Amino acid sequence: MKHEFTKNCKDFINDAKIDALVANTAEDSVRVREIIEKSMNKDPLTVEETSALLAVTDKDLLEEIYDAARSLKKNVYGNRIVIFAPLYIGNFCINDCKYCAFRKSLRTTVRKTLGPHEIVQQVEALEDAGHKRLILVFGEHPDYTPEYIANTVRSVYDVKKGKGEIRRVNINAAPLNADGYKIVKESGIGTYQVFMETYHHGMYKKYHPVNTHKGDYLYRQDGLTRAYEAGCDDVGIGALFGLYDWRFEVLSMVTHSHFLMDRFGCGPHTVSFPRIRPAHGVELDEKYLVTDDEFKRLVAILRLAIPYTGMILTARETPEMRREVMEFGVSQIDAGTRIELAGYTKNREQELNKEQFHIGDTRNMDEILCELLRNDYIPSFCTSCYRSGRTGEQFMEFAIPGFIEKFCTPNALLTLQEYLEDYGSPEAIKEGARVIKHELQEYTHSNKAKLLEKLNKIEKNQARDLYF
Ligand code: SAM
Ligand code: SF4
Repeated sequence: MKHEFTKNCKDFINDAKIDALVANTAEDSVRVREIIEKSMNKDPLTVEETSALLAVTDKDLLEEIYDAARSLKKNVYGNRIVIFAPLYIGNFCINDCKYCAFRKSLRTTVRKTLGPHEIVQQVEALEDAGHKRLILVFGEHPDYTPEYIANTVRSVYDVKKGKGEIRRVNINAAPLNADGYKIVKESGIGTYQVFMETYHHGMYKKYHPVNTHKGDYLYRQDGLTRAYEAGCDDVGIGALFGLYDWRFEVLSMVTHSHFLMDRFGCGPHTVSFPRIRPAHGVELDEKYLVTDDEFKRLVAILRLAIPYTGMILTARETPEMRREVMEFGVSQIDAGTRIELAGYTKNREQELNKEQFHIGDTRNMDEILCELLRNDYIPSFCTSCYRSGRTGEQFMEFAIPGFIEKFCTPNALLTLQEYLEDYGSPEAIKEGARVIKHELQEYTHSNKAKLLEKLNKIEKNQARDLYF
């Protein structure tokens, strides 16, 4: 298959080097403490430093890593958790990834692409639940051209039901060429996500037959570099955990992040770390499945290694696991998730042959929000940065002193207030009012009077979509 690469396309993953780092399990507590201290200063860790943290098995030292991750999350992100939902647009696929129920050779999967009317119905259902941020998910198929993706994005933004509207649309789809990214970017997308699945060359080959589009390792690895070069500077990386050694994937994502940072002056906006789930027609090889304890370690260590990258935890995980690892550094979760095509207008159990995999958290949006609020998190629907042009190199959320105080916290409170007014259950309203009151007591920024004024306008139903 002939693919178009970036001019200076470079394979930045050296399997042997990363395997050697993984194999070095010497545990040096003095060095580990120095590295933890470095990360507490919000300095990104090198790949070697990250590997020293991955080698830790001593219980007390692990607790120190967890404590550091908790406090780094607090320092960098505060109590905010951004809320989104995935919307599967179509599951036709020309690839044959062995872990996925959408792969072309699986004849028993029910195939579907949402029609224009169905897209409106699904988006209306998501707006009725209070969603403002979506990620559109596509199989890889000649029907899903950049023009088709761009038109779908526009049609999602056009759906307005009651006070509902979608204010940010992200994409998870196959990597494109430069022209494709430009077309999709013009439709006003937020983040373009492409997961490498496994960064290990040999394992990649095992799971992605070479005669398929996705079978070209380097074309996929180069995929987000092409996005930056085409002007999409808001990208999300990820690995599918369970295909190869989890430590290898963590070190590779840190390598990828450094690569993008060095070349473009700005790392990925988000990192995803989905664990492989049981799926229709998929026989899982259990050798590399990641245990819950390993999962906790990888979340905490990723937080310390790449402090400024948003971390996405999806409904693949159970409510218990989400609760537990959230505090180690997660900044975004999905809520009320349905991954069956057209699933947001159906009220029934998951049907495995219609969806990509089995999800672990099937709670609805309000249940998830209530739990977050009870635990003093601020669920945020903020979409301000990218709508104000604060992305990529200009996206200096963490470089500008006081940025979070000035923008993120007030915007989280404003969007939460809006949710409570328009969609909140009695419990959400009660818990939300408590959280907002508490946050306002702590809030000392000079724009406090403006914030109070905006909150008041939302409460009195005089305005919506107010942000800093
Ligand atoms: N088709 C595009 C691609 O492969 O990049 C994008 C969409 S694909 C539906 C989204 C992601 O789902 C994949 O990148 C993969 O990491 C993940 N996925 C596939 N099968 C899975 C499974 N059985 N359990 C958990 N995640 C899975
Ligand atoms: Fe297709 Fe993506 Fe599934 Fe692979 S992971 S079979 S490319 S939908």
